[in-house]
Amino acid sequence: MNLSIIIPLLNEQDSLEELFNRIAAVCKASKLSYEVWFVDDGSTDLSWSIIENLKLQNPQIHGIRFSKNYGKSQALHAAFEKANGDVIITMDADLQDFPEEIPELYEMVKVGNYDIVSGWKKKRFDNVMTKNIPSKLFNLAARKVSGVSLHDFNCGLKAYKKQVVKSIDVYGDMHRYIPVLAANAGFRNITEKPVQHQARPYGTSKFGTERFIRGFLDLITLWFVSRFGGRPMHFFGAAGTLMFVIGFLSALWLGISKLIDVYAYKIYGNLLANNPWFFIALTMMILGSLLFVGGFLGELIIRTNREQKNYHIEELI
Ligand code: UDP
Ligand code: MG
Repeated sequence: MNLSIIIPLLNEQDSLEELFNRIAAVCKASKLSYEVWFVDDGSTDLSWSIIENLKLQNPQIHGIRFSKNYGKSQALHAAFEKANGDVIITMDADLQDFPEEIPELYEMVKVGNYDIVSGWKKKRFDNVMTKNIPSKLFNLAARKVSGVSLHDFNCGLKAYKKQVVKSIDVYGDMHRYIPVLAANAGFRNITEKPVQHQARPYGTSKFGTERFIRGFLDLITLWFVSRFGGRPMHFFGAAGTLMFVIGFLSALWLGISKLIDVYAYKIYGNLLANNPWFFIALTMMILGSLLFVGGFLGELIIRTNREQKNYHIEELI
């Protein structure tokens, strides 16, 4: 099997048939063997029955149906586990992405030997204020933080080597950062291809502007997890030690100056608590210890949950 095409969908009844017909036509013309995985992410319209009907005529079609809306990441994850093709292509169900890009994406992975080829909607047909401008900022931040230099992280149209999708764990809203997850797993041969884009012909967008806020929070998580996910003590321990030491030295200095006041100058009335540093020192020591404990707990959790499956290895036997 050359290709697995994965299509997550939520209430996209009007576009499914046209989408599949165009995929079938383009794969036939390029002589590619393929399967299509429709993942119905809790649609409440006719999407699932349309998929069932299409399946009757077309054995290449497979479907996964969620009992409720779990989100695009979960939908992709479910199909990544099932996919059999050498190259995996994901695309949105709303016809904003062009199935006609498939053969070239396939070639780039297969012949160009890229781990990931990510679509780049160079000329976008979405709302300028709610999508295009926030998206530019979002992509800039994602590039800087992750070190993966893509212009368009959010593009639904991407192609992967099979091994890549089998090695990463997409959850929450992390579908935006699959290239970053892959790069963290050691798949660094990532490139992008400018792709055609059009306005949504049917239905409405499933994501609002809140996606950018969530996206930024996820980016922070990703940065943190990729740096310290395997060794939380190095972060919490360092921060905790620093705070504790500053607090401790301040307290020591306060204590010594109090002793000097009392024994050398015979001044008795100065209460330690009158000095603001007293409270700063106290807070620093408490926070420092808490961070330290947090680091220890993190290490314990890792120790008990260590998952071998995250190792990506090749064997020569
Ligand atoms: N989608 C999904 N689950 C969700 C939200 C969206 O499967 O919870 C699908 C949606 O049906 C579409 C794709 O993800 O096929 C991209 O969504 P959309 O077109 O709404 O995003 P946009 O193009 O506005 O970024
Ligand atoms: Mg769309």
